Amino acid sequence: MREDFGGQVALVTGAGRGIGEAIAIAFAGAGAAVIVNDINGRAARRVAEGIVAGGGQALALPFDVANETAVGAMVQMAVEELGQIDILVNNAGIEPKSPLLETSLYAWERTLAVNLTGTFLCSRAVGRVMYEQGRGAIINIASIAGHRIPLPDRAAYCASKAGIVGFTRECAREFAPHGIRVNAVCPGVIETPMTAEARSDPKIMRKWLDDIPVGRLGRPEDVASMVLFLCSGNAGYVTGQAIHVDGGKVMA
Ligand code: NAP
Repeated sequence: MREDFGGQVALVTGAGRGIGEAIAIAFAGAGAAVIVNDINGRAARRVAEGIVAGGGQALALPFDVANETAVGAMVQMAVEELGQIDILVNNAGIEPKSPLLETSLYAWERTLAVNLTGTFLCSRAVGRVMYEQGRGAIINIASIAGHRIPLPDRAAYCASKAGIVGFTRECAREFAPHGIRVNAVCPGVIETPMTAEARSDPKIMRKWLDDIPVGRLGRPEDVASMVLFLCSGNAGYVTGQAIHVDGGKVMA
């Protein structure tokens, strides 16, 4: 059952740290050439250099996924350098925290721009490449927040993640006749820099652990395993789904 992505190219957004980094490393370990995108150029280069040092193939492309021109340039450079894109993982995301009544229009719009519009822009640009290839797999990293469990003080984040699930289903239907599968992965609470502050609060940690049947928080590698499975031939009949990777926090 071990997935082999030899000869394939995977583009992972927001891969300079956290879940995206784990996904990039997992694809490289399974033989794929990996395009490491992140808005933080230093972080993207660090991950790409680590993959190359380990014998893999990687290219750091630091671009903002919310910027239409930048996304076009990124996809063009990726195809020029590596010739194809077989896998796209829309992982880049931000999670600003504020009560709804104190949320600025800028914070609302930026959250939707990175999380939801970024997913659209990358899917459209890479989708054009995949249409020509007649094959591809796209994974959108959503969240249990918004989709199933509201996260306090994060209205824009919840809205963006619910939007990603709806987008995933429509995109899956539209792209399926072109040999492209599209699925969403909805992580629960994962140990990354995004959750570092909350994890340092023992009260929050206790509540989280009480709510997670498997009794631990998720690791970035737990999400990466599901992403690789969904992109592999083993999941060739799976599309338009939103799969929870959350230790059982959400059931059914
Ligand atoms: P993270 O540690 O904050 O990493 C996200 C990465 O994306 C950062 O390197 C960030 O760069 C980058 N990024 C932000 N805006 C970008 C943009 N416009 N273009 C390109 N890259 C950008 O987050 P994570 O915890 O790994 O989360 C990854 C994804 O999983 C997100 O979509 C998140 O919503 C989702 N998720 C996470 C959890 C969790 O518990 N951690 C749960 C559910 C869903 P900067 O650091 O410079 O901003």
